[in-house]
This record gives sequence, C-alpha cells and structure tokens, in this order.
Amino acid sequence: MPNALAEKRNWIGWAFFADLADALLLTLSYMFSKTVTEQYPDKEKWQPYSRYRGQHFLKRDDEGEIKCVACELCAKICPCYCITVVPYEDEKGERRPQVFDIDMARCLFCGLCEDACPADAIALGQMYELSTFTTEELVVGRDALLNMPGKTETGGGVVGARLNTDEGVRVEASDQEGYDWWRNIRRT
Ligand code: SF4
Ligand code: SF4
Repeated sequence: MPNALAEKRNWIGWAFFADLADALLLTLSYMFSKTVTEQYPDKEKWQPYSRYRGQHFLKRDDEGEIKCVACELCAKICPCYCITVVPYEDEKGERRPQVFDIDMARCLFCGLCEDACPADAIALGQMYELSTFTTEELVVGRDALLNMPGKTETGGGVVGARLNTDEGVRVEASDQEGYDWWRNIRRT
C-alpha cells in the first residue's frame, strides 16, 4: 500500500511539475539568501561526501597487517601508469608490497585501482589537500598511504578545522561540530 501511495504521489508530482517547481523555489530562495564566506582554512573546511575520490589510502586487516598482496592489478589497470608495486615475501611466506608508490601528479582519480583490487586493500578517501612545492613530494609511498585518513561516515557539510603549519601546511578537521552548508547558507 505505501508503494501505491508513493507511485500516486510521483505521478501527481510529474503531472503538476512539482519537482521543477521545488527546484525553482530552491534557486529563488538562494537568490535572496545571505552570502556566507566559509572560514577556510582557519576555522572551517569542507568535508566531501564519502563517495568523493580523493587521496588514496591503504587498508590493514584485523591483525594490523597490510591487506595488499602486491598482485599489481591496480598498477596494471591504472590508465596513467602512476602506481609502482614491488612485491616481496614476508616471514610468513605472504606476498606483500615492498614498494607501493602512487605518483599523485599523474593520477586522475578515476578510482579504477580501487575497483580492480581483489583484496579490498586500497581506496580513495576524502582528503583533497594535496598541494606541495615539488612534484617529487607528490609521490606517496606505502607507509604514508597506510597512515592516510580513511573514509568518514559524515560528509557533504562544513566541519570545524584548524590550520597547522608546524609540519608543512595542513588543515586538520577538528571534533567541533559542523553544519549543513547548503541548508544553513541562510543562517542568521
Ligand atoms: S585513481 Fe585511477 S589514475 Fe589514480 S592511481 Fe588509481 S587507477 Fe591510477
Ligand atoms: S592494492 Fe590491491 S590490486 Fe593493488 S597490488 Fe595491492 S592487492 Fe593488488
């Protein structure tokens, strides 16, 4: 029954252009909304949705071992040839990456490496602050990839942040509660 009701509503909405009217109303309301400047990088930063494809990170299993089995599928499928994997056999006889480098200067963030990985060992996270002073610094190695932040549950809003210039220039998200940028743009 609820499905039938939803279908009826959809049909009525379609007949009376309800979605179009809704979208136009939203656009109109933003035309008269107050301009809000996001206080980046000193106080706030944008937290992308979890589907965002930013800086890669390598995952660990429950025992804390790197999940990557150095099969090199990600390197093979990468259209930019920006992944370098050099395998070795660890003390347990497992195949692991001795070298796992990604050249971020060449990466186009297509996500194919994540899709191809048979071990669910690599993913693209929500980190987007990749600027450096040299292209050499854009080559990110295995240990750095293991320490990159993973995906967060939250996204699509502004979170509190703090500019840190002690070790390079980074903007760290704080625990301070953020807000829904799109809905709160009309905040007073
Ligand atoms: S996201 Fe695409 S271009 Fe970047 S490393 Fe992965 S496969 Fe290569
Ligand atoms: S990240 Fe995945 S696809 Fe790439 S080498 Fe490791 S296990 Fe293979």
